[in-house]
Amino acid sequence: MNFPAFTDTYRQKGERKLLAAQLQKKGINDEKVLAVIAEVPRHFFFPKDFWDHAYEDKAFQIGAGQTISHPHTVAYQSQLLGISEGDVVLEIGTGSGYQTAVLLALGAEVYSIERQEELYEKTKALFNQLKLEAYLFFGDGSKGLAEKGPFDKIICTAGAPTIPTNLLAQLKITGKMVIPVGDEKNQKMNLVTRISEKEFHTQELETFRFVPLIGEQAW
Ligand code: SAH
Repeated sequence: MNFPAFTDTYRQKGERKLLAAQLQKKGINDEKVLAVIAEVPRHFFFPKDFWDHAYEDKAFQIGAGQTISHPHTVAYQSQLLGISEGDVVLEIGTGSGYQTAVLLALGAEVYSIERQEELYEKTKALFNQLKLEAYLFFGDGSKGLAEKGPFDKIICTAGAPTIPTNLLAQLKITGKMVIPVGDEKNQKMNLVTRISEKEFHTQELETFRFVPLIGEQAW
């Protein structure tokens, strides 16, 4: 990726490679996902004063009381989805846009919703500047985005009390959804596969701590 609007130094490129190696040690084994972590400049999605911290495996404040997810979380959710070129993906919780950029780099067509107007505006301006082509929406993602669905993949980057039924309804048959489900403190990553019109297979995986999904079909 080459974005003339921002600097991307050899040091930052090197740090990204180290980050990808670190994530591999933590169990990420999808080569495409690791290559994308090494490719997408995470610092572009960070407040400039904190660029030095962009390649640590940490979450970070991005404004409006929200955080950019840990690189490990982004890689983990992306790996579970198993994105193929051309997959139509719905993301709930655009936030900084980093996860969105990772999905784009994996070849997806991305529809992403954010409920904090300030973050939506900021990330939209950033995507224009970086010439990143995702469809960004302002609104309550717990209701999904019926007019653009059904989706091959759905990713929710905020913690939900239960899986919103609208999201299940907007998943294609054979489609997959990753969503953290639990209470305010801890959530289990759920991987849902739609088997048929009425059947879903749900796997409960590792524990995470996300900011809450707030909306009609959420907290
Ligand atoms: N993927 C983002 C994660 C941001 S944190 C990143 O790595 O930067 C989760 C985001 O979900 C927050 O920005 C929060 O405002 C947003 N969110 C919470 N509830 C939402 C809802 N109902 N619809 C859309 N976005 C929501």
